[in-house]
Amino acid sequence: MIARLADIPRELYSTETGAPFSECLVCGRPLGESAEYMVEKAVRKYSDYDLQDTVFEYAVCIACYQTLSASFSMESRQAVDGFFAERVDQQERLERLSDVPTNDLAPWIGSCLLTGTPADSLEEYQIVAHCFGEHLVVGPAPFLIGGPAIDEITGLLSNETLDELGGFRDQYFGLPPELQPQVVFL
Ligand SMILES: [Zn+2]
Repeated sequence: MIARLADIPRELYSTETGAPFSECLVCGRPLGESAEYMVEKAVRKYSDYDLQDTVFEYAVCIACYQTLSASFSMESRQAVDGFFAERVDQQERLERLSDVPTNDLAPWIGSCLLTGTPADSLEEYQIVAHCFGEHLVVGPAPFLIGGPAIDEITGLLSNETLDELGGFRDQYFGLPPELQPQVVFL
């Protein structure tokens, strides 16, 4: 895998604390210098007002991430993997971005990975990032997925997986019903 380390950009800091995420949402392990972890942020924009809101955000250590990801049913996993493979040529993307400086992450998160829609014209999106200590691991992640593609992914998930994800969402976020974008572990 072609991966490089970059500084974690501010947009991937915790909106709540204004600093990089410091502990795993699930096990509470500190995400210090040598911790490998994933960050997910869901953003909703109100373009009429030039405002945006972080709907939810969290970091999970790599061990918890793997456990959560493994909770996908076989059916859901195959459907999601197939959907990604159909929409994105990851190898081509990695090669195309391998020479691009990482101090501007727009080529990674400036548009939806699955539809190409620019982030500016999306009302809702989620960003997934892979971090190592105080660094961002730039490789297949970070990437951004827009609301329409999230809806498509959600439509591919089995009821069992939707229940799992719903349980995770309710346990950790307790979002009001009108603000419940699907938490997706890819
Ligand atoms: Zn953990």
